[in-house]
Amino acid sequence: MSDSVSQESEAEQSQTIVMPELPEGRLLDTVVAPAEVLSSPCGDADPTDPEVIQLAADLIASMRVAPGCVGLAANQVGVPLRVFSLDVSEHPKTRTCHGEFVLVNAEILEATRNQKAREGCMSVPDFTGDVKRATRLVVRGQLPVTGEWVEFRTDAFEAVALQHEIDHTNGFLFLDRAAGAHAIHPRQTYL
Ligand SMILES: [Zn+2]
Repeated sequence: MSDSVSQESEAEQSQTIVMPELPEGRLLDTVVAPAEVLSSPCGDADPTDPEVIQLAADLIASMRVAPGCVGLAANQVGVPLRVFSLDVSEHPKTRTCHGEFVLVNAEILEATRNQKAREGCMSVPDFTGDVKRATRLVVRGQLPVTGEWVEFRTDAFEAVALQHEIDHTNGFLFLDRAAGAHAIHPRQTYL
């Protein structure tokens, strides 16, 4: 964990989170808004619980097969636990990247430098929205299997994606963060 004062020059760092080995994941169907499970805060999860470990594997497998999907929260597959997968490594707006990982019981410790950007979500297939999010973030969460706590600093698109996923675990959609109806747009193509 770096305590260094963040500077512009620290972009382009690559600090892949080393994930414990997971079982084979299954493909799960995505829940679509306005499902109740998407708008309720999720409960804490035990990262060492075999069902949570399988859920972590399932989230990664389901995220990988969905075109353009950079993150998937457990309540998006109907499980009301604070678990999500993330992988922004292929996204053009990514700077700092921690690779493909799952976080359990994640929370934001610091959030600064808000910027507005367009967001979409597999659970809101017909719309995108302009949402103001921090572009500098410090996050902590537990890894599945070991329960190890990891804390890291990130920026740009990974920071935005993490806020989107942590919002899911707290029962919020990007629609709740958009500045109003004028900030919601019909989705023209699925990507
Ligand atoms: Zn989403």
